[in-house]
Amino acid sequence: MNRIYLDHSATTPVDPRVADVMREYMLRKFGNPSSIHVFGRDAKPGLDVARSKVTSLLKCSPDELFFTSGGTEADNIAVIGYALKNRNKGNHIVVGGIEHPAVRNSAEELEQLGFKITWIQPDRYGEIIPGAVSEALTEQTILVSVMHVNNEIGTINDIGAIGAICRLQGITFHTDAVQSFGKIPINVTKMNVDIASVSSHKIYGPKGVGALFIREGIEVQPMTYGGHQERGVRSGTENMPGIVGLGKAAEICRSEINAEAERLTALRDLLYKQITAELDEVHLNGHPQKRLPGNLNLTFDGIEGEALLMALDLENIAVSSGSACSSGSTAPSPVLTAIGLTDEEAQSSLRITLGRENTRQDMEITANVIIKTVKRLRAMAGI
Ligand SMILES: *Cc1c(COP(=O)(O)O)cnc(C)c1O
Repeated sequence: MNRIYLDHSATTPVDPRVADVMREYMLRKFGNPSSIHVFGRDAKPGLDVARSKVTSLLKCSPDELFFTSGGTEADNIAVIGYALKNRNKGNHIVVGGIEHPAVRNSAEELEQLGFKITWIQPDRYGEIIPGAVSEALTEQTILVSVMHVNNEIGTINDIGAIGAICRLQGITFHTDAVQSFGKIPINVTKMNVDIASVSSHKIYGPKGVGALFIREGIEVQPMTYGGHQERGVRSGTENMPGIVGLGKAAEICRSEINAEAERLTALRDLLYKQITAELDEVHLNGHPQKRLPGNLNLTFDGIEGEALLMALDLENIAVSSGSACSSGSTAPSPVLTAIGLTDEEAQSSLRITLGRENTRQDMEITANVIIKTVKRLRAMAGI
């Protein structure tokens, strides 16, 4: 039986076109890009080409882009690295209330180091309201960090408005753009973003590689010390297969971004329509309009989300309850409780995230299995 993968916010399969270029940099162009000889010279252009491909999706200059070991490291350098380097300017940091653990735990670490953190609670759609960020700023604020798109509920924040507020106050603005990069347009210049984190494996590139945009003139303290690769921001021999893979993945996303966003929105809406046509008491989490094209996060009243997930798994359909990072734990999703769901409602929820390989037929099969399973589970529970 065919498998249906609907967990693209956790990770994506590597695009075959990406795997092809990676293979070349593992087998033939394996040299260290810092080496002077022909092997090094063969590898070096791959680094530059990948950098320019990523920058053309972010709209920044190649001098402002630094490759990292992933989104998590990019977030750590952005939040901790920026704060440590600039602590002489102030000790207050403003952070979104439903950030990915890579940002949330970095900010908590700063709290341990004596920084003051203000967490901005989202509205009931999961949006961080720019006015709330504005109100939290003080003379001591050095950094604001708010994610572009939430990884669980897909809500898109008004990064441009938050960026404009920060720019006006002369405060550095970081956004975790891991979930938006390659899927919806980002323009760090127009949006007044100063630091942005992205990851490769959420856009059909390999795992273990990401990038950080740091606007010219902004300084961060590195988290690794060594051979001064990536202009000292991230020492360590470059992960060349990963980096060229990320570059290729970014290039493909860039050429397909609008068409794919439209296609996924239509498939997502079809799935939602089919489910809600047959089932009552199904609630959409996140913003109904300002949401990532492929994200559907639903609460099924009276159902254990985990039970529904496992029933779908038995039918070879992969979805998630909450985020991949928190699954395995039975605690309700902190993102869902932050937007006002009770623990019970949060535990009755499912995250379905669509991607490139998904078809209309996948939606129909998935809708049918969900409908059948929810009806069965509700009947068993006497609802
Ligand atoms: C996946 C994810 C990360 C972490 O990126 P990795 O490359 O897996 O380390 C950070 N932020 C968000 C919003 C994510 O979805």
